[in-house]
Amino acid sequence: MTIKFLDLEAAHEELSSEIDAALRRVVRSGQFIHGPEVESFETAFAAYCEARHCIGVGNGLDALHLILRALEIGPGDEVIVSSNTFIATWLAVTMVGAIPIPVEPDPDTHNIDPRRVANAITSRTKAILPTHLYGQPADLDPLLELAKHHGLRLVEDAAQAHGARYKERRIGGHGDAVAWSFYPGKNLGALGDGGAVTTDDPKIAERVRMLGNYGSRTKYVNPVRGYNSRLDPVHAAVLSVKLRHLDEWNARRVAVAGHYSRQLADSGLGLPVVPDWADPAWHLYVVRAPHRQALVDHLREAGVQTLIHYPIPPHLQAAYADLGLARGSLPIAEQLATEVLSLPIGPHMSAAEVDAVEAAVQAFYADEAAR
Ligand SMILES: *Cc1c(COP(=O)(O)O)cnc(C)c1O
Repeated sequence: MTIKFLDLEAAHEELSSEIDAALRRVVRSGQFIHGPEVESFETAFAAYCEARHCIGVGNGLDALHLILRALEIGPGDEVIVSSNTFIATWLAVTMVGAIPIPVEPDPDTHNIDPRRVANAITSRTKAILPTHLYGQPADLDPLLELAKHHGLRLVEDAAQAHGARYKERRIGGHGDAVAWSFYPGKNLGALGDGGAVTTDDPKIAERVRMLGNYGSRTKYVNPVRGYNSRLDPVHAAVLSVKLRHLDEWNARRVAVAGHYSRQLADSGLGLPVVPDWADPAWHLYVVRAPHRQALVDHLREAGVQTLIHYPIPPHLQAAYADLGLARGSLPIAEQLATEVLSLPIGPHMSAAEVDAVEAAVQAFYADEAAR
């Protein structure tokens, strides 16, 4: 038996007739850029996120990039990011010529530590850009407070957090603007690249839309230098189908996570810590694993696929060597990178598969203890 890290085939199988109908509809419509499929998805996703506006864009990195451009953040500006995130968060900052200022995470939640953010603010800081890592909301209230106090923007990287809630309210409209990815493996995934921006601010919405469409509101009139970054109707149509099932699919992820957290409590793994104000979307179930490589090998032999999110923090990537952030400069992110392991989780995992993962983990640490 192989237990897949994420079973995308099963996801598409469950919705195959609805997805086929959506694809046929797009092909028949003859409209392959802009149009009603995109508009209706944008309306539905904004409503789902409890935000006023949604703009479809090409992918999650573009969503972040276009937000920073819309906020006129550029060369010389500083943007506070988590030291523990996927590199795209940092890439968006450097794409506009600004400087990523990494702040260490809370070692329990792995999300940016608001208590450390205050110390990182300088006269050049323009924005705070937390990631809702693994689908766990970052602690937004203290960040909103700091942003208000210092006149900064709050931009959220919600690429892993479709459906998550912070203090009962959905992620999507807490900060000035929120970036989403519909990469196929995300909780809400397209059949290729896709992304969106949600915001309550009509000015930001308008600017993001213009920037993603060549810097143009009216065809062939270009007030600013823009990009081509749009959500294609084919993806919007499929996402509209999947959005109707997102809450149910997330509920199944919650069930898998709950099972792991109960059954693995005494296993030897460090388990996810969920603050009482958080309703995570459980994009990933990330543990801290003593003897990680040996556990990965053991699980692989037992047929259990695992992944590491992420093995190398952005500041230690060759891509960011020029920032001069040496090994040892961000010890919490560096330590997490050596310990974290993502167990299989998804809406199509059977109870038997969840049990098998747990048994394989228990067996490994029982053997370790015996040695
Ligand atoms: C997936 C992801 C992105 C990038 O999204 P793409 O659609 O792949 O460009 C950005 N940030 C985080 C945290 C992600 O997980």
